[in-house]
Amino acid sequence: MSSEQTRRRVSIFGATGSIGQSTIDLIARAPDAYDVVALTGGQNIAQLARDAIRLGAQVAVTADAARLPDLQQALAGSGVEAAAGRTALVEAADRPADWVMSAIVGAAGLEPGLRALQRGATLALANKESMVCAGPLMLRTAQAHGGRLLPVDSEHSAVFQALIGEDLDAVERVIITASGGAFRDWPVEDLAHATPEQAATHPNWDMGQRITIDSASMFNKALELIETKEFFGLSPDQIETVVHPESMIHALVGFNDGALMAHVGAPDMRHAIGFALHYPERKPLPVERLDLVALGQMTFRPACETRWPALRLAREVMEAGGLNGAAFNAAKEIALDAFIAKQIGFTRMAEVVEEVLNRLSTQLCHIDDLFDLDMVVEADHLARTQARQVIAEDT
Ligand code: NAD
Ligand code: MG
Repeated sequence: MSSEQTRRRVSIFGATGSIGQSTIDLIARAPDAYDVVALTGGQNIAQLARDAIRLGAQVAVTADAARLPDLQQALAGSGVEAAAGRTALVEAADRPADWVMSAIVGAAGLEPGLRALQRGATLALANKESMVCAGPLMLRTAQAHGGRLLPVDSEHSAVFQALIGEDLDAVERVIITASGGAFRDWPVEDLAHATPEQAATHPNWDMGQRITIDSASMFNKALELIETKEFFGLSPDQIETVVHPESMIHALVGFNDGALMAHVGAPDMRHAIGFALHYPERKPLPVERLDLVALGQMTFRPACETRWPALRLAREVMEAGGLNGAAFNAAKEIALDAFIAKQIGFTRMAEVVEEVLNRLSTQLCHIDDLFDLDMVVEADHLARTQARQVIAEDT
């Protein structure tokens, strides 16, 4: 086989973000191994164009249609195609890439990922919202078209790795760890006054602004509990979370003989991204090798549902199933926008989401898992509208 044929065609959705940049870091280290098909981004046109030119991408797409002239100008003479807008972004997933990184933040990442799976691609899924909103649809689409879904969220990559060679029937429980985020040591009564700036600093991980705030509120862990249920087909009572401030153990799988298999590593997303990039092989990755003696100890605390009501809501969403995940995520996205804009307080976010779920409960339940993309989009819209109303009623 010629070297041309062994090059893998890769696309990165959300290339300008934290996960996207870590993915590019790995790909750029082995330029002869990859042909870059599409890179997508948002407002950071300069970064998108720079990476697209550096990696020799076929096309660069910004989600914002109004930025097309800027992108065209930045790419002029480079041979990289420029495209813009939602339709162009989704269509970029139809271009033949073997491996696609799904690293857009929010429900906006769902459709391009589905389109890549419909082509039979391997989808490396950082966008946890896809599984929260439409887990059964994602799995069904992968199966129907010979696509492959690989988790990139660190906890889910850890579970996936701990399950290799194991019989799923022997799994008793899965424990995903949480750092506890920016406010894990704050008195509960101070949380109502926490600001977006305070919430956007993470003790261990360097991530995008939205997921960092979601870590402080534990909405990130709430999404991940639901993602665990969907990805691994577990029942809600098999999934636990524990606060582990050092973020060295990412997840543990408990088997029916009492064994707990833990995945341990430094908090660096290039591990989970690289694992998904090279799967089913393991290849060397530029991540820190842990010195356990220097680390000294690892500690654990309960994940208190009074401090972090998002965890209780996640449990309710897992029990209810159907389109509750899509509504939960959409309401959370609107509440997060309002918190970032300082329209509502930190603790109000969970109240808004709970109120939206209550208002929509009869419309979201009792829908079996055979829902399609249109139904997910409708539930998402309904929940966003309700969330905006709940927030407007505050003022
Ligand atoms: P980020 O905010 O750093 O980057 C988001 C990317 O998505 C950017 O390229 C941005 O331009 C693009 N984007 C944003 N809104 C968009 C829209 N409406 N349409 C199209 N593109 C849009 O986010 P991140 O931290 O890299 O996270 C990306 C995803 O990965 C999220 O789903 C997050 O939950 C998940 N994740 C991130 C980490 C991490 O360490 N950062 C870890 C685990 C999972
Ligand atoms: Mg995670």
